[in-house]
Amino acid sequence: MRSIILAASAFVLAASDQAQTVPSAKEILVHSVSIPTVQGRGKVPELAAYYAGVLKAAGYAEADLKFTPIGETGYFTATLRGRSSEHPAILLGHMDVVEAKASDWTRDPFVPVEENGYLFGRGAEDNKYDVAMMVATMARLKQEGFRPKQDIVLLLTGDEETDMATTNAAAEAYRHAGLVLNGDAGGAMLDDGGQAEAVFLQAGEKSYADFTITMTDPGGHSSAPTATNPIYRMARALGRLDVYHFPPMQNELTRAVFEARIPEETGAIKAAMQAFLANPDDLAAADALSARPELVGQVRTTCIATMIDGGHALNALPQSVSANINCRIFPGVTVSQVKDALVRVLAEPDMTFTVVGDPRAADASPLRPDVVRAVREAAGRRFPGVPVVPVMSAGATDSLYFRALGVPSYGVASLAMRGEDSFAHGLNERVPTAGIDAALAYWHDLVTTLMR
Ligand SMILES: [Zn+2]
Repeated sequence: MRSIILAASAFVLAASDQAQTVPSAKEILVHSVSIPTVQGRGKVPELAAYYAGVLKAAGYAEADLKFTPIGETGYFTATLRGRSSEHPAILLGHMDVVEAKASDWTRDPFVPVEENGYLFGRGAEDNKYDVAMMVATMARLKQEGFRPKQDIVLLLTGDEETDMATTNAAAEAYRHAGLVLNGDAGGAMLDDGGQAEAVFLQAGEKSYADFTITMTDPGGHSSAPTATNPIYRMARALGRLDVYHFPPMQNELTRAVFEARIPEETGAIKAAMQAFLANPDDLAAADALSARPELVGQVRTTCIATMIDGGHALNALPQSVSANINCRIFPGVTVSQVKDALVRVLAEPDMTFTVVGDPRAADASPLRPDVVRAVREAAGRRFPGVPVVPVMSAGATDSLYFRALGVPSYGVASLAMRGEDSFAHGLNERVPTAGIDAALAYWHDLVTTLMR
């Protein structure tokens, strides 16, 4: 790749009249992985400047490429002007990656290496693969002179994995958007032979909230136990939470997930799925499904204790205990409803209860016919005969902030891989490189169908 494009000062260089070539999607991906955009390293602006250079080379005007700094990070936008700017379509992704400890990895996580058809490196899967595809698609649309019915805005956030302050600001800035296509959810699942089994269309997700509960006591000498030991009180309260189940819930996404799985299931789980679909209030069926870790997130809100800290000396009555309760909230349930339920279930009159940060909750997006049709068409051309399955993620992405503002958001990643190859956030993260041309065709197909 040419150093003029790689330079951190691409914003400045791009202002010159020098003719530049647009790197390939694979080159964009490789370069993206080589920049360690981990929180605290201040590298997100460098990656954004690189993308600006690529898009400038494809013909974008300086004024349509913008980086909005927020602390050491920020968000990047590139706008393809359409026939209207009223309700832009957002192509959404994130530039930051989860920390990776080089000593734990077989290879340096930030030196991209291609081996046996895979590109290895932190962020290769989450989310730089689809970010690179979206950057390359934006470049191609510009070069083709595509004039969409509404502006298309490539919007790349800079702290999706941590604080989501860039997501919050970007969602506010584009709350008038008509829809969001997120490259950080969805995607295609391949079987062992590399054949596609399903294409996922993510239209909802659990939201995320942490609560800190603290119990205190005057304490005293451990030789004179009292009845108000906060470690015991905390233990009893958390024991009540352990056996509590939030009410079962369904939406059109989770119903689609179960409907798609029923033909492959057998025995008690199959019967539980059928019973739950037939009767959303069937508690026994919901509890049977909740016993499966990969299904519990599809059935109800979940809250679990994740951290605990208490006491101050081996020989003293504890004066303070605090615990963190982490919740994954079903779409349509508010944070305050969850808080009220927790206070009731913990049933400890003498505790302080705080919400950590400013968590968002959002309802699922409706399965908009134009979006479903466009995804079906693009997926059908790429993987003929393979079903498109609407899904709800158990974790949260940037889409949460847009959905909370009423902007319908759809996870439509182009990445196609086997489940066993997925190591997002984990060691030796990798993506197959063979599907890049098909992934690019998929994005192009999807965007031009929806926005023509
Ligand atoms: Zn991600």
